Amino acid sequence: MQRQLLSAEKMNLASHLASSVAQEVRSPLAVVKGYLQLVFESVEGKNRIYIETSLAELKRAEYVIHDFLNFAKPQLEKMEIVQVADMLHHIRQTMSETVAMHNVDLQIEAEETLLLEADRYKIMKALGHVIKNAIEASNGGQVFINAQRVLDKIQISISDNGEGMTPEELTRLGTPFYSTKTNGTGLGLMVAFRIIQAIGGQLEYTSEKGKGTTSVVSLDAAPSVAS
Ligand code: ADP
Ligand code: MG
Repeated sequence: MQRQLLSAEKMNLASHLASSVAQEVRSPLAVVKGYLQLVFESVEGKNRIYIETSLAELKRAEYVIHDFLNFAKPQLEKMEIVQVADMLHHIRQTMSETVAMHNVDLQIEAEETLLLEADRYKIMKALGHVIKNAIEASNGGQVFINAQRVLDKIQISISDNGEGMTPEELTRLGTPFYSTKTNGTGLGLMVAFRIIQAIGGQLEYTSEKGKGTTSVVSLDAAPSVAS
């Protein structure tokens, strides 16, 4: 089942709102965080826990803003030739902490010859959100990433044997603030869908509750190797 993207008009409106709110809220948060960190050093006992909790909550707010700013800047700034295997291994490195925390066996299978033309930073962001979700859904399980050339496309599939989703849950993917996690922002997939749409690619999900989930990201292969 494929997720429908929000209409372009709604997306643009949400994008403008997201950008201005995120920008406005970012600096006061930074000030509060700075002072709390300062005070934390000299505080003892129960008050320390209050400040720790406040700092942890501020971190969460920062995540939300970070995801929002990504959403608000959907234009592709820098197109370049991206080596797919290299990019996937790089994403894995940035996620080593999450992989260890969820005790997941993460495998990558990708030929070195696979190239695509994209904004490396943006596509890494989008794939990062999809891969992170797969890891978080599969405690003690496996996540398998495979990239292959299919005609003039590069298809990257991410399969996990984690908790899976019902058809109803599947339809909610990419909706702002939809999250089933205690510490989730519910913005990761909104950003991922938005970026992939801007690149002219596709993101499709199939899932079965209790069995696992597979997502397939399909992007144009770099023209230089299209034959
Ligand atoms: P967050 O990760 O902050 O919750 P996302 O937008 O990244 O927000 O994901 C939204 C929701 O979609 C998750 O909370 C989860 O319920 C569901 N989801 C996404 N990917 C998977 C997956 N691979 N397996 C199971 N559920 C998933
Ligand atoms: Mg997520």
